[in-house]
Amino acid sequence: MRWRGGRRSSNVEDRRGMSAGRRGLPGGGGLKIGGGVGIIVLLVSMFLGVDLTGFLGSGGSSGTAGLPQLAPPSAGPARTDDEATDFVKAMMAYNEDVWSKLFREANQQYQPPKLIIFDGGVSSACGFTSSAAGPFYCPGDYQVYIDLNFFRELQKMGAGGDFAQAYVLAHEVGHHVQNLLGVSMAVQKRQRSVSKTEANQLSVRTELQADCYAGVWAHHAHKDSQLLEPGDLEEGMNAAARIGDDALMSRAGARVRPEAFTHGSSKQRQEWLYVGLNSGDPTQCDTFGS
Ligand SMILES: [Zn+2]
Repeated sequence: MRWRGGRRSSNVEDRRGMSAGRRGLPGGGGLKIGGGVGIIVLLVSMFLGVDLTGFLGSGGSSGTAGLPQLAPPSAGPARTDDEATDFVKAMMAYNEDVWSKLFREANQQYQPPKLIIFDGGVSSACGFTSSAAGPFYCPGDYQVYIDLNFFRELQKMGAGGDFAQAYVLAHEVGHHVQNLLGVSMAVQKRQRSVSKTEANQLSVRTELQADCYAGVWAHHAHKDSQLLEPGDLEEGMNAAARIGDDALMSRAGARVRPEAFTHGSSKQRQEWLYVGLNSGDPTQCDTFGS
């Protein structure tokens, strides 16, 4: 990818080195949950689909306190200027530019998400989340969360390359777009009234749409800023395959159970990423209608 000449987003907050304990919700973020006792806000965070817990060999710990960490806590002060940070700031800027344009074209206003860089674990409106869960989007606070060590994990999974990393981020921003459009809320509402299997299928459709939106983003980022280089598309399609539910289940040594899929098979993830990449049209990302 040719990203170094682009601008950097200012909607990025570095919380590395602050992850030792579970803190309360960040103040001043504008988030107000309820006020009355009877209000239950469903805050389901939306993940990339890669749960690394199974790869980390810690056995059955399920409490947040005992969750494995991707990497030992960083010894020094938070780095603020390393290359991965620079890269995600550039990617968030490209996402802001593309989605602002697409919303404007639809006579709507785009509010960009904030990206929180953390290490170890993080508290959000969605609760406490360990790095082992992979990058995620929390609809409750409109923020994307990533531990940059995840990029190394991607590489280990055979999904290396800068465009693979860009796809991961764009997928999470895709969830933000869904949140703005009301898709996330509608899906969560529906999921409460259907069976577990149907709820999983709705989750798959939601995730595939985020993949498609990631493709839409890359289409426009390339059209507007010539972002992509030869090999990038292959990196993206390869990454989509590596993080398909069937691939992840196989990798974890589990039987592949399509009814338990929550993000879609490798083939589906590739197909929908491609629909977005090829068309550049968010209305083509109708994973619910097809
Ligand atoms: Zn997702």
